[in-house]
Amino acid sequence: MNTPNLQKPWTTLDAVNLYGLDRWARGFFSVTENGNISVNTRARSGDRVKFDLADLISQADSPSQSPPMILRFPGIIRQRIQQISAAFTQAINEFDYGGTYRFIYPIKVNQHAEVIDAVLNRRNELPLGLEAGSKAELLTVVARADNETRILCNGFKDEESIELAFLADLIGKDITIVIEKPRDIELIIKIAQRFKNRPKLGVRTKLGWKGAGRWSSTNGIKSKFGLNTTELLEAVELLREADLLQHLHLLHFHPGSQISDVRLIKTALIEVTRNYARLVELGVNLTTLDVGGGLAIDYTGNQDRSSSSMNYTLQEYANDVVYYIQMVCDQAGIPHPEIYSESGRAAVAHHSVLIVPVFGTSERPREKLEKDEQAELDSTDPDLQPIRELQIALGEVDKQLAGEKLAGERDSISHRILSEAYHDSQQAMDSVLQLFVNGHLTLVQRSIAERLYWRLCYRIRSVLNVLDFVPGDLQQLRDHLADTYFANFSVFQSLPDFWALDQLFPIVPVHRLNERPSRRGVIGDITCDSDGQIDSFLGAEQEQQKSLPLHEFEEGQNYWLGVFLIGAYQEALSDDHNMLGKFNTLIVDAENADQLETRNLAGSDLQEVIEHVNHDFPQLREQFLLACQNCNCDSEMQKHAIEFFESMSKNYTYLSAQ
Ligand code: PLP
Repeated sequence: MNTPNLQKPWTTLDAVNLYGLDRWARGFFSVTENGNISVNTRARSGDRVKFDLADLISQADSPSQSPPMILRFPGIIRQRIQQISAAFTQAINEFDYGGTYRFIYPIKVNQHAEVIDAVLNRRNELPLGLEAGSKAELLTVVARADNETRILCNGFKDEESIELAFLADLIGKDITIVIEKPRDIELIIKIAQRFKNRPKLGVRTKLGWKGAGRWSSTNGIKSKFGLNTTELLEAVELLREADLLQHLHLLHFHPGSQISDVRLIKTALIEVTRNYARLVELGVNLTTLDVGGGLAIDYTGNQDRSSSSMNYTLQEYANDVVYYIQMVCDQAGIPHPEIYSESGRAAVAHHSVLIVPVFGTSERPREKLEKDEQAELDSTDPDLQPIRELQIALGEVDKQLAGEKLAGERDSISHRILSEAYHDSQQAMDSVLQLFVNGHLTLVQRSIAERLYWRLCYRIRSVLNVLDFVPGDLQQLRDHLADTYFANFSVFQSLPDFWALDQLFPIVPVHRLNERPSRRGVIGDITCDSDGQIDSFLGAEQEQQKSLPLHEFEEGQNYWLGVFLIGAYQEALSDDHNMLGKFNTLIVDAENADQLETRNLAGSDLQEVIEHVNHDFPQLREQFLLACQNCNCDSEMQKHAIEFFESMSKNYTYLSAQ
């Protein structure tokens, strides 16, 4: 990372560089002069609007509006869909492509009603569709889509799902049942016997292309979904025999999500379009090629092919999709298909911000020695030798920091001497532990050694920023001595991709950015699992860092961290870990630049999450009541306990600020 220059006054531009906003924020987030993060998007009218995050959070006047919370900006979704569609339109115009483009939103990426509202908001201006991958998703999109919004019915299906698709078609919805498994054909033929109408059909193909990285299991001939070549040919014959082949209009594939290397996309596109062309040559009336999801988000802003980044732009993606489909179709002499893409992550990742309040930091280990402890070190006991070595190493460091010059050394602090002292102290600490385990040192003596060691480490860390060179071992001290900032949320519940896939998310304080951060920290959550900690962050330059520059936490003062780009998958994947439940949500939009609209949705209360795991809450209440009635305390206290239980069950599941 860029080591901030301690001599220069701190500006908000330093904060932008330090937290990498210039690389990942895509113009949606910036830092105001007073050091707050502002969200920059468009109102429904198309006007530009800015929202100050800290102002929005401070407006909360009840616990059901307070952090931890999710701030949702539908304007960002509208803008992203506009940008994705515009990129395809530009590519289509540039290459003189003969077909059109339609954006399909796969609702699995974030099923919240407000997100689907924002997607559908563009339906009068842009061709749109919704994709469903399960029965609940299908029921939702069938009800929500109007007759112009295309519906894709993907995923595992049973008779009920296929019957719903037939009914949706019957009442005028534009639905395509995508065959993902050979069994889907049997079910479609069976249900078709009971209906006169015929919904459109699509088929998902498995590619030989395996892809690479985290999502490679989505692809290749052993992938879970799609038909292989033989099954595809059989499907054509089965549909022909059942007089359904004329309804097959779409070929689909999905390369996996967050494809960070554009070369993988190109290879897959050529293969799938070749499949498309061959099917057309066999007489299948295909008109649409659905290239699935995969368009990545640059979470780190590094523009590389690591899993939290991407080595291409949105425009390059659209150009490649259009170019390769056109190239293969022209070679085969067939018309260019209508293109669908199911770019879920790219559409919604930016739109929401998780706000987590810090409520404390870890205690810094004590360093001070008392007078009598000092005296103990003067004894001649040979077992105390490593502790005396610690003292000597500390003395060397102190001498350096006091600016004393050693013969032959430069005027500045010598990193070589600091390194040597650090290594000596580590060696001494190993010996201390060994002596303690073998029964030669007392608890007091061990504690003295630990305090000398911490003192030495903190002393060295305090000068790392002014060294002209920081050796690798000493750099580690920054992370080794990082404080834990405790924040009111659960990593498992809110950032499952960080926990399960090591995916990085930008994390930035949403205020105080006009102040130089003076500490470094990792972020500990409120769950009782040691994994509930964030200790990988994007750096100001390309590398990942193990701790984040943060401000001094002051008891009684708000310190809010924003976790950005969490709009895709995080809410959809979250579970009920530690029964923490849903966050309070604030939806922030505007009709035009002067008309702010906010809507609060209260998060889970305790009764709700308890019932969610099938406890009979009235029965729990009854059990508690009985315990109160049978206890030895006076009736006043019994009454208080019962009322307390009752009122607490209506409260927010996260820690309260008081
Ligand atoms: N389409 C299908 C069939 C999917 O399974 C997924 C998600 O994995 C998507 C689209 C969305 O992919 P992405 O979020 O990468 O755009």
